[in-house]
Amino acid sequence: MERLEELKKRLTEGCPGLELRVNEPMSRHTTFRIGGPAALMALPRTITEAACVLKTAWELDVDPFFLGNGSNLLVADEGCPGFVVKLAGEFEEICLHPSPQNGQPLLSAGGGALLSKLSHQAQKWGLTGLEFASGIPGSVGGAITMNAGAYGGEISQKLLWVCVLDRNGEKQNFRASECSFDYRKSIFSGGDFFVVEALFRLEPDDPAAIKARMDELTAQRKAKQPLEYPSAGSMFKRPTGHFAAALIDQCGLKGLTAGGAQVSEKHAGFVVNRGGATCADVLELVRQVKERVLQQTGVELEMEVKVLK
Ligand SMILES: Cc1cc2nc3c(=O)[nH]c(=O)nc-3n(C[C@H](O)[C@H](O)[C@H](O)COP(=O)(O)OP(=O)(O)OC[C@H]3O[C@@H](n4cnc5c(N)ncnc54)[C@H](O)[C@@H]3O)c2cc1C
Repeated sequence: MERLEELKKRLTEGCPGLELRVNEPMSRHTTFRIGGPAALMALPRTITEAACVLKTAWELDVDPFFLGNGSNLLVADEGCPGFVVKLAGEFEEICLHPSPQNGQPLLSAGGGALLSKLSHQAQKWGLTGLEFASGIPGSVGGAITMNAGAYGGEISQKLLWVCVLDRNGEKQNFRASECSFDYRKSIFSGGDFFVVEALFRLEPDDPAAIKARMDELTAQRKAKQPLEYPSAGSMFKRPTGHFAAALIDQCGLKGLTAGGAQVSEKHAGFVVNRGGATCADVLELVRQVKERVLQQTGVELEMEVKVLK
């Protein structure tokens, strides 16, 4: 706590204009709508502010938690006693650039830009390749860190470069091939790099055809996923050779509840907040699901959703 007080003091003095929030309710920043307060949150709007925030925190041995759109996140009911950083301002921007080599346009996006906004913007500019991402409610930084994917597409496939801030608050660029992308993880998953910008190469196509593909995927999502309730998407990783939702369904666990948390009746892979669910409710439900699936199928489920305490 003393270190956080010192951090707050240094950030107030050293990063003038930086937005700082004390005891910020995390339920406002997660798609689950669950989570107690973060002791200290910074919302840098420029690269200078973000670099100052990271350098200062790491100098004081405070490990910041990088928050995206909170769509793969469960935060403890007691909140998080640490330091949370969320990108704002210029990090939410999306720009189109002519490619210097062959005239093929490149798309840059700040780490805090929403993936849905990025794919809709690409559609408007007549660029194909990100249709799969239009219904993923994450930020660009979170999606790259998690290598988000759906319907056969993954964010890593269209990426050229990623720009991060490292532990010294210095900028570093990674080619997509250097990011160790794998199923729902990357070199950035360990928390040592803050993804602040990304560059994508997309193919030109007819905006109407791109929109039609996006509409089709949206319809598929609406039909299969419980989008009417707050959640963090798929609760579990896909176990090798299986589908988590199919195993949970097979064990008869659809509709199972713990407090306000429920295994979705529509999609067994989702845990939904039916109203007033706590983090403890969700974790208890996850415990029961894991136990029953292991007993009945021999498969050990692993949580995909990150827990912040
Ligand atoms: C209804 C629904 C549907 C979903 N469908 C899909 C789907 O089809 N496919 C899929 O892959 N996921 C899906 N998800 C899960 C989620 O949207 C993705 O995992 C997304 O990539 C998380 O991004 P975020 O910005 O919300 O990250 P957060 O939840 O905020 O954070 C997730 C992790 O990324 C880290 N992180 C966030 N931002 C940064 C950054 N800038 N730099 C470094 N690390 C960072 C965090 O520290 C944390 O470890 C779904 C979620 C919901 C609620």
